[in-house]
Amino acid sequence: MTRTVFVNGHYLPEDQATVSIFDRGFLMADGVYEVTSVLDGKLIDFDGHIKRLHRSLSELDMAAPCSDDDLIAIHRELVRLNQIDQGMIYLQVTRGNPGDRSFVFPAADLAPTIVAFTQNIPNLADAPAAKTGFKVISVPDMRWGRVDIKTTQLLYPSMAKMMAKKAGVDDSWFTENDTVTEGTSNNAYIVKGNRIITRQLSTDILHGITRAAVLRFAAEAQFEVEERPFTISEAQDADEAFSTAASIFVMPVVEIDGKPVGSGKPGPVATRLREIYLDEMRRAAV
Ligand code: PLP
Repeated sequence: MTRTVFVNGHYLPEDQATVSIFDRGFLMADGVYEVTSVLDGKLIDFDGHIKRLHRSLSELDMAAPCSDDDLIAIHRELVRLNQIDQGMIYLQVTRGNPGDRSFVFPAADLAPTIVAFTQNIPNLADAPAAKTGFKVISVPDMRWGRVDIKTTQLLYPSMAKMMAKKAGVDDSWFTENDTVTEGTSNNAYIVKGNRIITRQLSTDILHGITRAAVLRFAAEAQFEVEERPFTISEAQDADEAFSTAASIFVMPVVEIDGKPVGSGKPGPVATRLREIYLDEMRRAAV
């Protein structure tokens, strides 16, 4: 089945969907994106993703490409057309095509480019990796200073993912001044006893939509939540570690820089939070 994608108001077969070479997303990474997961054919935490999209757009002085009703309709139509039961929907909005290359932003009334497509992942909720956990390495955080804005500038995270691959592990955790900021495409946590520790929100990390939900569920389940930086050695000595993102939900982290965390297997807290997250979010899906 050919994938049907959305580009600037049209649903098209993926091989017929095109964007200009002058698009600022292509030339300048002048664009923002969201990734929403789909379970049982429904959107997970869509409201959170739309709110963060608006925040990213407004931090970059970009206008919304269409109404929120249109955005949900596009997502639902892509799910329907591509018969997605489990998977992801990628949405990207760029500052558009000014018809040439210039560092100066084009006029504010230039139409943005909006693109969306599905990724069909039939075992997303039941990913084998969740049973074995991720192994990670630490790498210096060399990204720009506004990683709280979800821009399409993903070269360094992509390089860090390749460093992990080369080291034979699953992901990298970024460090800055000895403390962990976040993973290449996820937020990072450690567990000590009944306490869940994760870096506080700032311009140093992406304000994960999964993070917000998981911390809320953790507090409801009587875990203590402490938002502060932690070091790699503190993480290696923790009882458990895990990462969160829309694409992996709650993913146990079982090894950091070659050292096992806790038992070296997915721990009870990460496993429980993953179950709670999946149950609650499936119930609230739209
Ligand atoms: N941190 C970074 C750098 C990310 O790229 C992502 C997701 O892509 C996250 C955290 C997790 O965010 P969310 O839970 O909204 O998927």
